[in-house]
Amino acid sequence: MLGPVLLAAARSGRVRRLVSSAPVTRPVVDRYVPGEALPDVLAAVRDLTGRGLEVTLDHLGEDITDPAEARRNRDAYLALCEGLAGLGLGERAEMSVKLSAFGQALPGGHDLALANVTPVVEAAAEAGTTVTLDMEDHTTVDSTLAVLREMRRRFPQTGAVLQSYLFRTEDDCRALAGEGSRVRLVKGAYREPASVAYQRRAEVDRAFVRCLGVLMTGQGYPMIGSHDPRLIAIGEELARRAGRKPGAYEFQMLYGIRVGEQERLAAEGHRVRTYVPYGTDWYGYFMRRLAERPANVAFFLRSLAGR
Ligand code: FAD
Repeated sequence: MLGPVLLAAARSGRVRRLVSSAPVTRPVVDRYVPGEALPDVLAAVRDLTGRGLEVTLDHLGEDITDPAEARRNRDAYLALCEGLAGLGLGERAEMSVKLSAFGQALPGGHDLALANVTPVVEAAAEAGTTVTLDMEDHTTVDSTLAVLREMRRRFPQTGAVLQSYLFRTEDDCRALAGEGSRVRLVKGAYREPASVAYQRRAEVDRAFVRCLGVLMTGQGYPMIGSHDPRLIAIGEELARRAGRKPGAYEFQMLYGIRVGEQERLAAEGHRVRTYVPYGTDWYGYFMRRLAERPANVAFFLRSLAGR
């Protein structure tokens, strides 16, 4: 019940101002976002990789409203590339980008996002790492996959995200299961209409298993983006049946969520990547995390009431 309300609030300017300015929000946000500035995130990268995890870094800045912001986001990613080159971790530290942060939703947005993301993908390759294109709401999927095709012409290691809640995704998995392809499969975090997406958890989970089956038996590199213990166990089993050894697929989880499980899988020899967001524009990301788990909202409200 609460999830859709929070997802609607994630896109409301009024609620954004209210939540962002409440001083008590910060400690709750800290659980999911390790910092606002580049040095904060580089420290988190050193810490996580020191504990045997890999990382993908997201400079927060989705849903921008003018092209100058898109250029600022591009420049933030270029600075991040430089920072990562200095750490010399190669693909153990890659980057995730949301094309809406690069102008995808503005007039002429497809070309604008393509123009802004291209230098980032180039700089990532020079720094010895790569980029995964996050997936946003369903209206952006065709444009994002078109940008992916364009990027993969020169940088075949560029990754994509597919969301099992969308009806179309099984077909997209088939199209992206070829050699060299890197696909992170997730359930999906946006509020989508019944005309395009499964609405019931059980249906989304079943679709996740079907999609993962397609990716695991394909020639590409599957990335299992979930904290769901059942889907993680099924992922391990599907990998085993497909004859994939650890390292021929990976698990991915978000910073601050099921940390013990991330470390347990890594200690068992699995490749595990933590998705680490950073920056000042944490509102949309934070609200989607609250929407995923009602207990988080209770925690948030308790901290509001306690001060
Ligand atoms: P759930 O059933 O939601 O969660 C399983 C268990 O994990 C819960 O019972 C709880 O114990 C724990 N858990 C899950 N979420 C939380 C939380 N917020 N706080 C505390 N505990 C929690 N979505 C997109 O639409 N596009 C993307 O590009 C995208 N990229 C992602 C990248 C990664 C690495 C991951 C892990 C997720 C990404 N997502 C993305 C989000 C995803 O779509 C889901 O919304 C999110 O992962 C929750 O689904 P779940 O599979 O973890 O299962």
